[in-house]
Amino acid sequence: MNPPPSNSTILQTALWNVQQAARRLELDENLTRRLSEPSEQIRKVIHPLMPDGRSLHVLAYVVRYNDVLGPAKGGIRMTATVDLDEVTGLAMEMTWKTSLIGVPFGGGKAGICYDPAQLRPTEKEILIRAFTRGLHRHIGPEIYVPAPDMGTNERDMGHICDCISYSSGTSITAGCFVTGKPVVLGGIVGRREATGRGVVSTIAAACQRLNLRLPGLRAAVQGFGNVGSVTALALAEAGASVVAVSDLSGGIFSKDGLDVRRLAEHVQETGHVRGFAGGSDVPRDEVLETDCDVLIPAAAGSVITEQNAGRIRARIVAEGANAPVTPAADAILGDRQVFVIPDILCNAGGVFVSYLEYTQETQRDQMTREEVERRLAERMQTTFEKVHERAERTAVTMRHAAMDIAVSRVVDGIIARGLLP
Ligand code: NAD
Repeated sequence: MNPPPSNSTILQTALWNVQQAARRLELDENLTRRLSEPSEQIRKVIHPLMPDGRSLHVLAYVVRYNDVLGPAKGGIRMTATVDLDEVTGLAMEMTWKTSLIGVPFGGGKAGICYDPAQLRPTEKEILIRAFTRGLHRHIGPEIYVPAPDMGTNERDMGHICDCISYSSGTSITAGCFVTGKPVVLGGIVGRREATGRGVVSTIAAACQRLNLRLPGLRAAVQGFGNVGSVTALALAEAGASVVAVSDLSGGIFSKDGLDVRRLAEHVQETGHVRGFAGGSDVPRDEVLETDCDVLIPAAAGSVITEQNAGRIRARIVAEGANAPVTPAADAILGDRQVFVIPDILCNAGGVFVSYLEYTQETQRDQMTREEVERRLAERMQTTFEKVHERAERTAVTMRHAAMDIAVSRVVDGIIARGLLP
């Protein structure tokens, strides 16, 4: 396979990463092909009827990339531009993430092509319910289990649960159809914070390896939604100094560190980071190039490219987002000795706690916040160590080591199941 173009898409990045892993692992042609294509892709047009009488025309997707190790698991992305390729690339990434973090799931993802910012809460609820009814037969505890991703949240997951329960005439506890739902509906405490907290666990582990101290570390965060805001808050709690933050509206900077709690309140009130009195406004994309020790891209994919990779000044790049670094940029960061914590490791805390939610629901159990946070921190730490040990032993990057472990486990699953359907 030729290296993908410098501005590669999430799907091109994901394909490149798996094919490079297949080459390093010397997999045969059949296995490589099997790992390089989705097992099922659904495209559905939905027509939710809005309260003002408009009927929207919305494209929605579900991709079950691979379910060798369990039901497909992955969030629902709702943006104005999401398409089948993006959902497929993200579903492929989920396959390696669930495998690496060691949970019995495969990889999946869903997409709803609509800008959530254009919808009032009731309108979004109608759209989410139309999506659920339209794709109901592709969602289920043993088929595909959604969760929040960009543009969707806990509230939306609650509506999905209700819609399924209502349509099938069963109780809300009939099975784990969705994770990341409200605690009152069987969700788990700490799921909302899990991805960001997991990101910080991997940064702490990297600091140990690189002889850096987390307290006092200067951090810049791109994105201030679920992952970015929790990461920034947890970093500040751990004593790091969050010097820059961006969201779609712009960037905000303070060389003495932002008061992240106050910034979160400002975002709660205004809807964006721009205009925060505790820092100065800076152009949005400059935040990536902030002079800092750790950069956390926690927004969209393909934001660090061949064009700006040479200007990244951080010592550590922690991939809170999925596929934020293109392969061409990855090579540049590697040459410049930037320590990259790859997405399938860095942001796997969310799916790990989703797994705890799934087991809690299956066993009609209830875990405490302490238990969830302890298990999350332990799993992130041990997985980081496993990846780091392999990277050192085989003299490859953290990304390559993570992919090699994850892909090998899926291959072991394929072989253990046998090659006949
Ligand atoms: P979200 O919708 O809650 O927040 C996204 C944030 O990114 C918003 O603040 C938005 O304004 C900002 N943003 C979007 N494009 C931007 C740009 N070009 N520059 C600066 N900011 C920009 O989404 P989220 O759930 O926090 O997800 C963020 C990333 O993390 C995505 O890549 C997602 O796939 C990944 N992720 C999320 C989870 C999870 O549990 N939510 C788990 C694993 C990975």
